[in-house]
Amino acid sequence: MFRILLLVVVVWLLFKVFTRSRSSAGEHKAGEGMRGSGIMRRCDYCDVFVPGDESIRDGERYFCSEQHRQASLNGPEDPKCGN
Ligand SMILES: [Zn+2]
Repeated sequence: MFRILLLVVVVWLLFKVFTRSRSSAGEHKAGEGMRGSGIMRRCDYCDVFVPGDESIRDGERYFCSEQHRQASLNGPEDPKCGN
């Protein structure tokens, strides 16, 4: 009977050590679901969102194409006003 009690205590201690070592090991990889190159930039001229590596940067502003960067430099024209 005493051997059974001893066995229970040993198992309980092993279980406690095991759970403690698992929690201290840190399973903090659950929240790492972000993509590295998923940044979207908004074109300062036509408000179209383009991927960050495909955007044309001019200072603090971003453009979807070189044409829109030039158009923005030429003047504050509204691209939607084309009638
Ligand atoms: Zn644009």
